[in-house]
Amino acid sequence: MTAQVTVIDHPFVQHKLTLMRQFDTSTAKFRQLMKEVGMLLAYEVTRDLPLKYEPIKTPIAPMNAPMLASEKKMVVVSIMRAGQGLLDGILELMPSARVGHIGLYRDPTTYVAIEYYLKLPHDVEHRDILVVDPMLATGNSAIAAVDRIKELGSMSIKFLCLLAAPEGIKHFHEHHPDVPIYTAAIDEKLDEYGYIVPGLGDAGDRLYGTK
Ligand code: URA
Repeated sequence: MTAQVTVIDHPFVQHKLTLMRQFDTSTAKFRQLMKEVGMLLAYEVTRDLPLKYEPIKTPIAPMNAPMLASEKKMVVVSIMRAGQGLLDGILELMPSARVGHIGLYRDPTTYVAIEYYLKLPHDVEHRDILVVDPMLATGNSAIAAVDRIKELGSMSIKFLCLLAAPEGIKHFHEHHPDVPIYTAAIDEKLDEYGYIVPGLGDAGDRLYGTK
């Protein structure tokens, strides 16, 4: 199986990402940009959703018009807390998506992902899942989240982030080669603290002004 990575290089996404990277972008602006970019990324990730044709009437004439074919709503699973920022934008695009939350924090010395919260829709195994976290750094959180979802039997999973490190992509696909990654950029590397370089800093802190 070829592990798939798609870089979403739309000019609006790239422009907004650059604004987010800048150290002096305010919390309010960063949060707004994360929401906007979440919507744009979701637009690209859902490009292959199947359509069906339904007879409708416009004010002028009847026609067969395209609508989303899937009866089942997509589930967006946010890795807390930074995933919330992307989630807000994604839900603007798909307001009736179901939402799951996985709370994971990085052990500050080992960078291992430790779960502190899990709440998923009950029938997650029959749905298309989009796991979201802005930063794919070591890959530990993303791997742990997808491990957990697969335990419930779900097979149709995509992973969406804003920035990825090459190390994180490699590590993630060693564990989950069947899960495609979508990202706005692949940066140079991780530093010794597990931060993406050049990156944008700590996405959670920048979203919520906690530093
Ligand atoms: N998480 C972040 O928020 N930023 C990084 O650079 C790496 C992990």
